[in-house]
Amino acid sequence: MTTRLHSKTPLFYAHQLSDQLNKKIYFKMDCHQPTGSFKIRGVGKRCQEAVEQGYEHFVIASGGNAGLATAYAGWKMGIQTTVVVPTTTKEFMRAKIAALGATVKVFGDAWNDANVFAQSLVKKENAIYIPPFDHPTIWSGNASVIDECDTQMTPPDAVIVAVGGGGYFCGVMEGLLRNGWKNTKVITAETDGAASMKKAMEQHKLITLDKIDSIASSLGAKRVAKQAFEYGIKKEVLSYAVSDGQALDACRLFLNETGNLVEPACGAALSAVYHNLEVIQEVDSILVLVCGGSGLSLEQFNTYLTQYS
Ligand SMILES: *Cc1c(COP(=O)(O)O)cnc(C)c1O
Repeated sequence: MTTRLHSKTPLFYAHQLSDQLNKKIYFKMDCHQPTGSFKIRGVGKRCQEAVEQGYEHFVIASGGNAGLATAYAGWKMGIQTTVVVPTTTKEFMRAKIAALGATVKVFGDAWNDANVFAQSLVKKENAIYIPPFDHPTIWSGNASVIDECDTQMTPPDAVIVAVGGGGYFCGVMEGLLRNGWKNTKVITAETDGAASMKKAMEQHKLITLDKIDSIASSLGAKRVAKQAFEYGIKKEVLSYAVSDGQALDACRLFLNETGNLVEPACGAALSAVYHNLEVIQEVDSILVLVCGGSGLSLEQFNTYLTQYS
């Protein structure tokens, strides 16, 4: 028996923005998934597969949306879940994860340390490490976003997707293939301080950033998955990055238009349409994947707005 963990999310046509740009802009509202981001699509699929394989304990290192999605999957399926977070993870997120019944363990000052500790925990019998982005099952789960869009609209000229480690992007590429969206371009979005995909595309090789320097913490993978790089060079993929201030401003404009608060990670993708960036000049109909994110409180958003305006 498999229960689907993710929801079919609405597709909104952005009337005001489309009129302003004289284009057709669609928002795929993955911010309306349980736990507020697309993550449950891929992570949820991987968790289900693990249960079918007989595992009885999920372990993940993530103070963000992947940790939250894993905790949700554990709660939904009645599976013990341990989420290891670094000390930098805010109390706001720790409490959300704990509220789903997961054990939150704090270890190390950075994700890498938390990850090493998480890996040591899975040595115990029947525990499985859930990877946040670099796994084929995660990609095929994330691809469901395009399966849904295929029932909601005709194929657009372009899809805009935010990239951290590239798990959502790999899902999009898989989804385009399996739905026959042959003429749809893919545009990847990042912030300048987390541009591991854009840099890899520019240098034509997989690179590792020295550090992450952005408020878009959900994009903070220093290196994208190898599969993301390979898709990036093979297909017609364009990459761009915006400043933190631009990503934040796009969050503000999106909130004003739709009433939804999303993370700066998602603002990076929204910025292309809200700031009419160069990268969308040649295309007419655009699907923006609103990846969402639960890591931003209104208080923090207000603080950022005063800092960046
Ligand atoms: C995880 C996440 C991303 C990046 O996804 P990847 O699969 O790591 O590329 C973007 N936005 C939000 C809100 C996320 O939670």
